[in-house]
Amino acid sequence: VIADFPGFCTALDSIFEASRAEIGGEVATYIPELGHVDPDQFGFAICTIDGDQYAVGDHETSFCVQSCCKPANYLFALQEAGEQEVHRHIGREPSGKGFNELTFDELGRPHNPMVNAGGIVACSMIQPQKTIDERLDSVLERWRRLCGGTAPTLDEAVYRSEKETADRNFALGYLMREQGTLPDGADLLETLDLYFRCCSLSVDVKMMARFAASLANGGECPTTGERVIAADSVRACLSMMSSCGMYDFSGEFAFSVGIPAKSGVSGCLMAVVPNVMGFCVWSPRLDSLGNSVRGLSVCRHLVSRFNFHTFDSLVGRSEKEDPRFPGIG
Ligand code: GLN
Repeated sequence: VIADFPGFCTALDSIFEASRAEIGGEVATYIPELGHVDPDQFGFAICTIDGDQYAVGDHETSFCVQSCCKPANYLFALQEAGEQEVHRHIGREPSGKGFNELTFDELGRPHNPMVNAGGIVACSMIQPQKTIDERLDSVLERWRRLCGGTAPTLDEAVYRSEKETADRNFALGYLMREQGTLPDGADLLETLDLYFRCCSLSVDVKMMARFAASLANGGECPTTGERVIAADSVRACLSMMSSCGMYDFSGEFAFSVGIPAKSGVSGCLMAVVPNVMGFCVWSPRLDSLGNSVRGLSVCRHLVSRFNFHTFDSLVGRSEKEDPRFPGIG
């Protein structure tokens, strides 16, 4: 899909170098284990919808996905319960509030699947009849297929740290149980446990780029050719990422970068250029809204050089390069 892949990689190298200069931001410490990572680390990887891959920087270092598990859990809930049932319990509006606020929409639902409350409800719908270990195995297996055959592992230290400091998520859970938000029969403590485990999954940028590429490719993993998720579920997920994936920066991000993305407090940012590629940036320093500073920088550079903003297609013959059709633009 990229006409000159080596040339494109050279452009990615310079975007990586330019973004490395960004040293602002702070590592998240409210989950103590997250505060122990080296804040200078920086990895970047892409995977195209025809399976070309590129990676640079700390691309072999593992990190935990944190909120980047939310698109996955939403997809898995859609697979099991269907769109109608999922959205009986979870809204689809940006919340306008922090990701862990105790607020709900006028129907008493979490605002969307990308905030903590919505992520917890999505977990409640994943194999609720099974044991917690079976549920995690099922999640890992689906991740493995989305990531082109490499499964994440559970980072036990993060999981423990997360669970021990999760008063807010417990509060969200109890509140939702009290007001009848959780599906009938959902076990709250097991649901929360699954949520903590999902946030603590350990990945690297290359895996996450393949995950994002599976979404860019409508649910079919580009490196294995396997259909993992139905195309209409992917459409739903990309819609939610577009409007709600970047915390309280989601509107600005949709305006200025214009692609579906999700970030997590570990400094992970995954993004999708539909029909072209998926990519992941990981660098732990976060801005005041919780997005990776270098992650945002890579997104801005990519979109200022290439016509990847969703609505660049309407601008016509812009200054920007179209790497699919060099010479046009
Ligand atoms: N595990 C984190 C939490 O529940 C995820 C939040 C995030 O990455 N925004 O607080």
